[in-house]
Amino acid sequence: MKIGVLALQGDFDAHRRRLEELGVEVVLVKKPGQLDQIDGLVIPGGESGTFLKLLGEEGFEKLKQFVRLNPTFGTCAGAILLATEVENPEQAGLGAIDIRIRRNAYGRQLDSSIREGRLLQSSLHDKPGSPLEMVFIRAPKIEHVGAAVEVIATEGKDNAPVAVRQGRAMAATFHPELSEDTRVHQAFLDLVLNGRKR
Ligand code: GLN
Repeated sequence: MKIGVLALQGDFDAHRRRLEELGVEVVLVKKPGQLDQIDGLVIPGGESGTFLKLLGEEGFEKLKQFVRLNPTFGTCAGAILLATEVENPEQAGLGAIDIRIRRNAYGRQLDSSIREGRLLQSSLHDKPGSPLEMVFIRAPKIEHVGAAVEVIATEGKDNAPVAVRQGRAMAATFHPELSEDTRVHQAFLDLVLNGRKR
């Protein structure tokens, strides 16, 4: 199984290391054509506006096609890119997951923090909800979740959704690549494997 990590900008190398630890062959994707060689894609954290600029119209369209058909996992800025609706400011989304997401949504104090959230029992993780370390860095907030979206992790007293999945697309507003725990990446790899079986 070959997994691409979009390597235009941001913390793609941490994802590469984590995926390699899990025994996967990783391709650093810098050109749209490389999307044809991979079974799944990770879109890392970074600055989503900068991603859009670097992708350009052609790259954006190619990526949109890819995420419609292939397993994709976006973290933080990557989650913003996968959304249908983006706020603060408004910007284009790839529309792979029916969520409304607000960029830089936490106040200054919570701007970057390590918090304990919960990984839920879900189609990707069959154990009951369990604690999960979550690293947030200028994180977005998922403000609305569409009916077809499954929440796979929550955080805080109000059980706010921080990781979601719709079909073959998965997104987390935190950075699992910066924690030791590999369960979130493993869940994505399971999604890729299941997708291939279908
Ligand atoms: N604040 C960034 C954005 O709005 C996301 C931050 C991150 O990826 N760590 O795109």
